[in-house]
Amino acid sequence: MLGPELLLCVIALGFGLLLLREARHQPVWQGAAWGLLLWALEELAWWIQRSQGFSAVITPADVLFYAGAASWMTTLIRLEVRATPRWGLLLVPALLLCTVALLARPSALLSAVVSSLDLLLMIFALPVLEPALRGQASVGRLLLGLGIFMRVSAHSAYYWLGEPALGMLDFSMWGGSYALMGLGAYLEVRKLERRVGFWPYLLGIASTLGVYLLFIHTASLLYPSMLVEAALLAAYPLLAVVLAFSGVLYRNRRWAEERLERWTSLLERLGELESGVQTTQNLGAAGLMRRVLDALQPVFPDLVGIEIRNRESVRVGKAALYVKHFPLYADEAEGRLYFERTPSPSDAHDLEVLGPFVAEKLRSALSLEEWRNRALTDPLTGLLNRRGLERQIPRLIELCHTSQRPLSVAMLDLDHFKRINDTYGHSVGDRVLQTLAGVLRHHLRTEDLAVRWGGEEFALFLYGAGLEEARRVLERIRTEMRALEVEPISWNVTLSAGLTGGSVPASEGLLEAWILQADWTLLHAKEAGRDRVMVTEPPRSQDLEPRRTASQ
Ligand code: GH3
Ligand code: MG
Ligand code: MG
Repeated sequence: MLGPELLLCVIALGFGLLLLREARHQPVWQGAAWGLLLWALEELAWWIQRSQGFSAVITPADVLFYAGAASWMTTLIRLEVRATPRWGLLLVPALLLCTVALLARPSALLSAVVSSLDLLLMIFALPVLEPALRGQASVGRLLLGLGIFMRVSAHSAYYWLGEPALGMLDFSMWGGSYALMGLGAYLEVRKLERRVGFWPYLLGIASTLGVYLLFIHTASLLYPSMLVEAALLAAYPLLAVVLAFSGVLYRNRRWAEERLERWTSLLERLGELESGVQTTQNLGAAGLMRRVLDALQPVFPDLVGIEIRNRESVRVGKAALYVKHFPLYADEAEGRLYFERTPSPSDAHDLEVLGPFVAEKLRSALSLEEWRNRALTDPLTGLLNRRGLERQIPRLIELCHTSQRPLSVAMLDLDHFKRINDTYGHSVGDRVLQTLAGVLRHHLRTEDLAVRWGGEEFALFLYGAGLEEARRVLERIRTEMRALEVEPISWNVTLSAGLTGGSVPASEGLLEAWILQADWTLLHAKEAGRDRVMVTEPPRSQDLEPRRTASQ
């Protein structure tokens, strides 16, 4: 006939196997896993013994019970996070008193000895449970504590009240203790706490208290006059309540810690915004806002987008129904944070605190960005200046190396520019420079660089272009510029260019040698009569002098 022992056997077996799998990575839990498996066998043995009517002073089930408890102890003494028992000591007198009360019962001596082994398990567990009692341990540890605790009291109850009186209550206590110990150990070994949340613990506490109340109820029916024993029995639920409170304490502490962690990381990441501007990578306003969004999202999970509304608006993420506005500059510019849901009161409070800070960070990051762009670009033409080029060169060489594509370098200079200035004035000269910048932009690709080298001289870096292709690009620039009419200049504005490179630049030093060579080639183009593009082979190493042979 099937008995409830078989159900207990399945519970212990299931958790035992689950733990055994995890224990491959964390051998410390092997003892717990084998402990549960031995207890599964114990339940099987009980079932056989009962159905066979087997009885002895020490039965095979007893031996399996001892072996399982001993196996658990090997895990308990090796676990990390232990503390000297203080609160845990409260458990000891209650359990000892229970044992004494047990001894006072007729023919219970052996029972007391047997249950003392569980007391031993409890004593081994005390340093492990102490952090849990102080509200410092994880949900897994708390469940494990409840499980051991339920087990010890199940034992006392069994020998005290006798199995027939307890009936299903006895089995539910054993089943509960296997499940709580197994689940607790599993959560602890897998570090699953964050994912499962607090509900297994609340369930554990509720079931533990429920079982104890039933237990006391049964006891009071059996022994209505035994006040002392009833009081002792009440010690169990009391201790369960202590554990429940410490769990809540732990939970609150975790919440506070998590909040602190998120705030710290938020402040760190916002702090990095300014230092990030010092790298070569050009973030731009959108890039900066993306980083602010990334920093804020762990603190406000419902935040989905940030927008800056100015003369032109920039937004990262998406717009949503709930908006928090904050002023960004003195003028009408404003920042907006978009939320998927109405922020909770505590989030709303955090936002009030954080709003000005985020705005300030965004403001200073954006103005730094603007300042940096100003330092690296030429205000008249909007092209890179030489400092801007220096920032870009390592990236450009890296790009050529990874893609194994060539680079050509050209120096370009307007012909008789001084004459334009002298005849029409500086402002017309400036307009010619802006016109040329427009022509350059039109003919260059995104990876190419155009640099205002100085005065009316420009450097071009054509990525992916061999000498022949680069020459064609420069010819197109030359003819377009020549064809443009710049009011009120009565002649065609021409330019000369020197070109070299055309392979993968081996180093920054070699690229500098190419620039020198291009400049020298430009000089040749001027000497040869201007209004032309001249090409020379690049020096093979950066130590070589520019080559003296030029071709038109
Ligand atoms: P070449 O064909 O040999 O290059 O003759 P050039 O007159 O163009 O050469 P030169 O280097 O003698 O003259 C360059 C002139 O460019 C001198 C300088 O006044 C003028 N210049 C430099 N920067 C600017 C600028 O930002 N705006 C204006 N309008 N002129 C500038
Ligand atoms: Mg010139
Ligand atoms: Mg010049």
